[in-house]
Amino acid sequence: MPFPSQFASFETMKLCIAEKPSVAKDIARIIGATTRHDGFWEGNGYWVSWTFGHLCTLKEPADYSPDWKSWDLNVLPMIPENFGIKLIPNSGVQRQFDSIARLVEQCDEVINCGDAGQEGELIQRWVLAKAKNKKPIKRLWISSLTEEAIKEGFANLKDGKDYDNLYAAGTARAVGDWLLGMNATRLYTLKFGAYKQVFSVGRVQTPTLAIIVDRQEEIDNFVSETYYEIKTTYRDVLFSSTKGKVKTKEKGEDLLSRIKEEDFEVISHIQKEGKEVPPMLFDLTSTQVECNKKFGFTAEETLNYVQFLYEQKLVTYPRVDTAYLPNDVYPKIKGILGKLNAYKNLTEPLLGKKIKKSKKVFNDKKVTDHHAIIPTGEDPSRVALNLQQKKVYDMLTRRFIAVFHPDCKVSNTIVTGQVTKHEFRATGKQILEPGWRMVYESKKETLKAEEDTIMPTFEKREKGPHSPELHEKQTKALSYFTEASLLRAMESAGKHVDDDELRELMKENGIGRPSTRANIIEKLFSRKYLIRQKKRILATATGQELISLIENDLLKSAELTGVWEKKIRDIERGKYDVKLFKGELTKMVKELTEQVKSQGYQQKKTACPKCEIGHLIRGKSSWGCSNWKKGCKFTLPYEYKGITINDSEMLELIHNGITRYSYIFNKKKADDLKKIVFSDKLKLEIKKEAK
Ligand SMILES: [Zn+2]
Repeated sequence: MPFPSQFASFETMKLCIAEKPSVAKDIARIIGATTRHDGFWEGNGYWVSWTFGHLCTLKEPADYSPDWKSWDLNVLPMIPENFGIKLIPNSGVQRQFDSIARLVEQCDEVINCGDAGQEGELIQRWVLAKAKNKKPIKRLWISSLTEEAIKEGFANLKDGKDYDNLYAAGTARAVGDWLLGMNATRLYTLKFGAYKQVFSVGRVQTPTLAIIVDRQEEIDNFVSETYYEIKTTYRDVLFSSTKGKVKTKEKGEDLLSRIKEEDFEVISHIQKEGKEVPPMLFDLTSTQVECNKKFGFTAEETLNYVQFLYEQKLVTYPRVDTAYLPNDVYPKIKGILGKLNAYKNLTEPLLGKKIKKSKKVFNDKKVTDHHAIIPTGEDPSRVALNLQQKKVYDMLTRRFIAVFHPDCKVSNTIVTGQVTKHEFRATGKQILEPGWRMVYESKKETLKAEEDTIMPTFEKREKGPHSPELHEKQTKALSYFTEASLLRAMESAGKHVDDDELRELMKENGIGRPSTRANIIEKLFSRKYLIRQKKRILATATGQELISLIENDLLKSAELTGVWEKKIRDIERGKYDVKLFKGELTKMVKELTEQVKSQGYQQKKTACPKCEIGHLIRGKSSWGCSNWKKGCKFTLPYEYKGITINDSEMLELIHNGITRYSYIFNKKKADDLKKIVFSDKLKLEIKKEAK
């Protein structure tokens, strides 16, 4: 083919490799590589090529040893001495790789233009390793894809070596996932799986499943208790007893009768001014959480929308776990705000004066390579956004505007009263100056949650009749996980943290990377370990069974997984050695293998085919579902048209949909043998003759 020789007019040729064709096209245009060839752009001394995400992957077990091809308990654990990579077997990947490899051979310098993150670094380095690159590497490291950012990035290219630790961390993650995933999946499947069932076990995926299973067990075992509360209404304001719960109805009624006839007396009326600071900027997880709460988007959907906004240059790099901006972004804020034309009424009050610089927004210590997700100021009307993408853009932009508005001023009121010696209290809040809340004023949903009750003025010592009531209440179980609460639980390694700033500190030990959490959750759904019920996430019987089989904490403790994540982060910072990491993991995989091999066999539970959450339990004349209390009516009889259905036949029907043997249903036609099938309607039927 006619290849690079035609560009001899340039003294040196630089090869840029982007992560996606669309990004390559943008970069090519900006740096003047305007001629399109098969697999790359060229011009102005540059070639610009691209990958499609990962072109390479870690080798599979069989690539290391023929003994590891078939699944066999005796050859476990599989621990390759040196890990290797290979191309993903696909003709398109092969072709693109071939053109990159040829360009690598011919160029003088490589510019790594992969996404500026761990995964992006890994994608590029693997391709360059596979192409046996020996040319010097530069790194384009940018936080948004606007023309300005790309130009600035090219003017300040980094040395590729500066990112060696990032690459080491990416490798450690991939190798760790391989060692645990490959070995544990084969171990549990070989030891406990039945009927071609595969128990998929993963380093992050399984502790995530365990978080859900544990919560579900807690809810299932919860016994609700009845309690009572005394409230009273005085001058149209509802007051609650400060003594809290009353355990029995008798006690409550007794108290009620004692205070009914007495006057309510106000003993104090306190009004205090307070401030409410704006919420923090968004990182990826909080974007996913908020979108799930507000719009019901899944974590994966939100990631796709925000990634699209990034690729359309509308927002900055989204796969981030920081909610702060570095100080050097501060001078650019006014420019960005000024360009948000659709939000003029919200930005105008800010533009006339000095922009607020709060520590809750700007903090160099909380920012490493990237910063919080903010709009770039590019005009969104030039891009065709769908409704969902518009919602995400609006949410990110409003938050960005809100953090530069003043605090919201409120007045908190506490009124205390008494009837005989029994004390009651009512609280109210009134917004005096909305401050940042004006950004949300047109949006009802954000204000709805706030108690903006305006109280009448009460005088101390005023008295009057009141109407007390006894309220019957039930203690409530914890709620099931939603994607929003699950993302939060992953972020804090299973602990519940409400405070924004405390959450920032916990992030170090969270499980999974923000950018991969959506993918992990989706995997659990696609493997049928989880199912969705509206916003709720529930573990299926198979998911519950898998967790019950796993005795080793390495595979299901969110905290322990968080510790491993911390080590990977430390590798990224050059504070932890990859070899040490691999050594520790190898040792744990060996121990795990020994332990599972000797683990006692538990009776396998069969998932209910109807609800998929319960498992089958024995009833009087049929199997039923363990989830019957919650409304699953599935049954499978022990006898069908005179044929007894034993355990193994039940399993055949549930798993294969048909019995292995045929039976005589009509005694007059003893040679007419027919099988029983388990129909789509979840009923037993006699298999019809094939025509
Ligand atoms: Zn069921």
